[in-house]
Amino acid sequence: MQSILRQQIAFRCPSCATATIGFIGRLHSVSDMLRLKCECGEYALEIKGEKDGRVSLNLPCVFCKDTHTFTISGELFSRDIPTMLPCPHSHHDILFIANENDMPALLERSAGELSLVLSSFEADELSDIQPMEVDDAEAMPDPAIYDVLNFVMRDLEADGKVVCPCKKGPYELRFTDFGAEAVCSSCGASYKFYAMSGASAESYLEADKIELT
Ligand SMILES: [Zn+2]
Ligand SMILES: [Zn+2]
Ligand SMILES: [Zn+2]
Repeated sequence: MQSILRQQIAFRCPSCATATIGFIGRLHSVSDMLRLKCECGEYALEIKGEKDGRVSLNLPCVFCKDTHTFTISGELFSRDIPTMLPCPHSHHDILFIANENDMPALLERSAGELSLVLSSFEADELSDIQPMEVDDAEAMPDPAIYDVLNFVMRDLEADGKVVCPCKKGPYELRFTDFGAEAVCSSCGASYKFYAMSGASAESYLEADKIELT
């Protein structure tokens, strides 16, 4: 008998560092709002479906104690491969979307990462590594994501597999809140890469064509 794997979403609480896991279910209607609260009651992840099919997240961050806001493609919730979102300041993954089979391994890896960060700072307490203030202007995109997507673009371009209405190019890659966007310098057509972590960027290595619209 085959059972269908359910999609889960998880984050780690900035106060107690515990991972809280929820089932995603359906986020189809506009007003759907999911609130996933840590057992300690201090922090909660908020997920809200938007009109355009995207999903906005208010995500507490265990690394900087800030709440990060992301807007991601709703498609990320129904993909087969696990998706992680990194903290824009520390670049460590802080949100995990995966099916119930894959989730334990992701959280185990994140726990290892967290304890590594703690030990590298010789900090026993989470509060020791969380800066009091984080300047948003210093948030840097993950260079790994850029490298991968840049490679994808150049590789496909070399094979004539980047398709643009004007067929001219050249194409630029720029960072956005959902990952990156390839933009044609001649006509302004664009293609969105939904890639918030190195792993999700790598899934584009399998793309055989990029069509700008
Ligand atoms: Zn907690
Ligand atoms: Zn953060
Ligand atoms: Zn163009």
